[in-house]
Amino acid sequence: MAMPQPVKMNVPLLDLKPQYEALKAELDAAMIAVATSQHFILGPSVKTLEEQIAPYVQCKFGIGVSSGTDALLLALMALDIGRGDEVITSSYTFFATGGTVSRVGARPIFLDIDPVSFHQDVGLVKDFLHHNCERRGDGVYNKATGGRVRALMPVHLYGQSADMDPLMELAREFGLKVVEDAAQAIGTEYPKERRVGSIGDIGCFSFFPSKNLGAFGDAGLCTTNDPALAERMRIMRVHGGKPKYYHKVVGGNFRLDELQAAVLLVKFRHLETWHQGRQKNAAFYDRAFAAAKLDGRVTTPATKPGYRHIYNQYVIRVPERDRMRDYLKECGIGTEIYYPVPLHIQECFADLGYKPGDCPESMRAAAETIALPIYPEISEAQQQHVVDSVAEFLKSS
Ligand SMILES: *Cc1c(COP(=O)(O)O)cnc(C)c1O
Repeated sequence: MAMPQPVKMNVPLLDLKPQYEALKAELDAAMIAVATSQHFILGPSVKTLEEQIAPYVQCKFGIGVSSGTDALLLALMALDIGRGDEVITSSYTFFATGGTVSRVGARPIFLDIDPVSFHQDVGLVKDFLHHNCERRGDGVYNKATGGRVRALMPVHLYGQSADMDPLMELAREFGLKVVEDAAQAIGTEYPKERRVGSIGDIGCFSFFPSKNLGAFGDAGLCTTNDPALAERMRIMRVHGGKPKYYHKVVGGNFRLDELQAAVLLVKFRHLETWHQGRQKNAAFYDRAFAAAKLDGRVTTPATKPGYRHIYNQYVIRVPERDRMRDYLKECGIGTEIYYPVPLHIQECFADLGYKPGDCPESMRAAAETIALPIYPEISEAQQQHVVDSVAEFLKSS
């Protein structure tokens, strides 16, 4: 059928300008204060940010780092995960989750997702550990590769928590470490008000500008409740030198900029308000899509009871996704696909030997999901335009 004539209204996927306009005086003053001090590296703003974010995510220690990717890398290095080791993670996530495992020389084990939550399917992790692995003296080994399985790396995708209790139980049963990829999930809660990043051994956060708490560039943070791990991460953040120029371990330059920390400290005061804005916007979409009576052709996000979702993304599932995305573009609406290619079939991981059908739900999610604009400052008229445009498209196709 012919496409309906698109009605246009500009709705970007993300617009950071209203946030900057609202906080301009404070943000500019914070940046100038750093410039005036000329203290750029691991100064007072980094320390204060660590001291504020750690308790916010219910952790004793926070270690500011250069990006969410470096947070994951530092976590794996601090846990001494490397050559001969394997890490179980999700096949449907941002590249860094799998990329960092490879970068430390370990092998990522990509297991499929649950089609409703898009999170790691815990049943598959359990099956893998029980049937594809064997226990030998010092650990658990992958029967197919001979590699030692060392850790689980669940991802709190889109801002909702992965199902942590059964994963933590498996980790205890098999002696595995747990690194939480909480890049999209600062302030997200698992039932009983447990904040993500505090449940596993190390939590990894990103302050990339598109996350709920975004810097003016790259930044990230590791959290832990283990003093020894915190100390190791602090040392490895500065090339493993302690005292300076004396290296017991090899680390990297994973430092968080003082300038970014100063910006983040200003923005952090507003984070709860922004979470609430996103939650309100998600509820608006939920109601408006239900009211549009699309006969189940749009699947809106499933927010689990007792969970606190911070809606870094609002992702719907629509089988005719690609054509609809083109139409929404004509209507002035920005969207994104998170993610078009699951990790198990990325070209760089070809040597791991996965076939597309190994993770069928990840393949289906990659073909059917689309993220809609959900940033706090979006107006109801803009949101209604998104819903109307989706409805127009579906009714004509
Ligand atoms: C953003 C993100 C990262 C990486 O964070 P950067 O700060 O961009 O390096 C890692 N994992 C997930 C799931 C992310 O969304």
